[in-house]
Amino acid sequence: MKPGAEFGVFGGSGFYKLAKGTGSLSATTRYGKPSGRVTLAEIEGRRVAFIPRHGVHHEYPPHAVPYRANVLAFKKLGVKRVIGPNAVGSLKGDVAPGELVFCDQFVNFTSGRKDTFYDGPETTHVSTASPYCPQMRKAAIEAAEALGLGYHPAGTVVVIQGPRFSTKAESKFFSRQGWDVINMTQYPEAVLAREQEMCYLNISLVTDYDAGLEGDPSVKPVSHEEVIKVFNKNLRNLTRLIGEIVRRVSEERSCDCGSALEHARLNA
Ligand SMILES: [Zn+2]
Repeated sequence: MKPGAEFGVFGGSGFYKLAKGTGSLSATTRYGKPSGRVTLAEIEGRRVAFIPRHGVHHEYPPHAVPYRANVLAFKKLGVKRVIGPNAVGSLKGDVAPGELVFCDQFVNFTSGRKDTFYDGPETTHVSTASPYCPQMRKAAIEAAEALGLGYHPAGTVVVIQGPRFSTKAESKFFSRQGWDVINMTQYPEAVLAREQEMCYLNISLVTDYDAGLEGDPSVKPVSHEEVIKVFNKNLRNLTRLIGEIVRRVSEERSCDCGSALEHARLNA
């Protein structure tokens, strides 16, 4: 059987160990190798591929993840739907650690990342007005409801360059814009998937309150240790959620993600 998958998940061993494994492969793309071997698994008969975003040993920090190779490796396997779980800091008092946010918008504060497949000569302007797939976000909301998980149905993630965390002043600035959560990997991962006409769902797991919470001096600034601790504590729920989403989302795409390139080129 030719290796292939309908879903692609950017997540490590914690995610795929509950799925029925069918093998793994070493992929290569014109942008080099992805950040790890691609693991293939089945969830209720639907084929899912996994790539550890940060590498098996967490050797790729957020600004050095080979995003283009990762996304293209999924594309080459026939993936139509990408699920990108990640840890985020909360910028709001009512978005608490342990809760999930299915973001519908991002704001990019990264710099210098390779964020397009279209460097010319064919000039391509893909719309990212709504960067996340509405069909998958709906499925995620239904899945979270079914599992009784705490979630926010929409939100804006501000993506920073990292690898350092924010200063208090930066965090206050982001928070005052009305943005909900902060992360280092949503950009350019989500837009690269769009450029390849794949659906992209973000699952943000809140692990902390970034540099603190305005007006509440008792909230300590985030540490990497705390992020890992909270993330791992919630990993089982996150894995169950992904399984439930894969089961629920219909094979037919009712969104526009699959035709993102249609009006993106002058000469198309
Ligand atoms: Zn879609």
